[in-house]
Amino acid sequence: MKKNKIILIGTNNKGKFKELSYLLPKRLKKISPSKLKIKSPKESGKSFLANSKIKANYFSKISKITSISDDSGLCVNCLKGKPGVLSARWAKKYGGFRKAMKKIIFLVKKVNKNKKNKNYKAKFVCSLTFKEPNKNSVSTTGVVYGKIATKILGTKGFGFDSIFIPKKYKISFGQMNKKKKINIDHRFLAYRKLKRKVKIL
Ligand code: IMP
Repeated sequence: MKKNKIILIGTNNKGKFKELSYLLPKRLKKISPSKLKIKSPKESGKSFLANSKIKANYFSKISKITSISDDSGLCVNCLKGKPGVLSARWAKKYGGFRKAMKKIIFLVKKVNKNKKNKNYKAKFVCSLTFKEPNKNSVSTTGVVYGKIATKILGTKGFGFDSIFIPKKYKISFGQMNKKKKINIDHRFLAYRKLKRKVKIL
């Protein structure tokens, strides 16, 4: 690692790449898998943690470069934790994030219809895995709690940002200043834990 100070950010998701680049120290040169023409592996794990390990192990093995990978998603309480690890796949299934967000709002409203105690609770979860070639991987998980908005709010951010209102806030991630979001979200919380375990971060 010391030799060239390069880290591969093991994701082909632009939003995640930007956030992880911001969190990682400036002294590390960051590269993306697409720059090396490496495609993402199949996410066959059943948990965020398992998938982040699959990705980091795969990217560091193929590139022979120290890698950090994220697996993350939105879990909605009244939808039994969905879309969860299938967050990216829901977006594909429903024809993009805007449609998937509308679908989630629709389902949440449907489940809560005629209920006295409405449950809009949700959380964003992120597992991060850091892997140096020929060394054991290190993983952490961060969770940010909040609720699903009753309509799409804001155009900032990426993915499901516009329907998630974090606890103690009145605005969605999609309405939040980018720097603000990056300093309170699930990825930040996972990264803060990882930093305590990995010296070079
Ligand atoms: P995966 O980790 O590649 O399976 O993708 C998870 C999906 O969850 C991504 O495509 C994102 O759209 C969504 N997601 C994860 N983190 C965030 C976030 O911070 N904001 C909005 N959407 C997110």
